[in-house]
Amino acid sequence: MQRSLRINTSKAQVTPSLGLFINTVINMTSLTYLKQYPLELQNQVTQLIESDRLSDHIRKQYPTLHQYNNDKTLREFALTLKNQYLKKSAPLSKVIYDNKIHVVNNALGLHSYASRVQGGKLKSKNEIRISSVFKESPEAFLRMIVVHELAHLKEKEHNKAFYKLCCHMLPNYHQLEFDMRLYLTHLELLGPVYSLTEKKAP
Ligand SMILES: [Zn+2]
Repeated sequence: MQRSLRINTSKAQVTPSLGLFINTVINMTSLTYLKQYPLELQNQVTQLIESDRLSDHIRKQYPTLHQYNNDKTLREFALTLKNQYLKKSAPLSKVIYDNKIHVVNNALGLHSYASRVQGGKLKSKNEIRISSVFKESPEAFLRMIVVHELAHLKEKEHNKAFYKLCCHMLPNYHQLEFDMRLYLTHLELLGPVYSLTEKKAP
């Protein structure tokens, strides 16, 4: 027998709130990038979406897009950060945008740190692949992602030492990760945040 979605009406003495219903649906299906945050915070995000304020919320804090939209400039951007904070860590062989990274599938889904066995030897190649989604994004989010990947040069796991390193490179790392996830949420649910003219702005 097919199971149907049931709404518990036994306590519904007042008119069921459509808003609450939408809240629930959005939380259950769509806040995939924000699952690890407290429910209260997720509810606030849902309210922003419902009241059509999410775009403004993001654009107010992050009014412009970065200019690092090809592999060459991305590499320079990443190397500058690496030289500043992780000079002694293993060199980076490759820093590229990758349109095959689907951020939806796996939380950040952006590390591709490649360790390959070549001719019986473990050849460690530090490659950083950044989802092409970030070709068009505020600089702060790109920086956050690059910092995350750079931190993996030293710490493979998402442990305390890893996040300490992230915060060393970017003191408001945690807030930026949340905001970046908010941005992804917008892209998924509502489409682009920035208009064409903003994209072309210098
Ligand atoms: Zn990671």
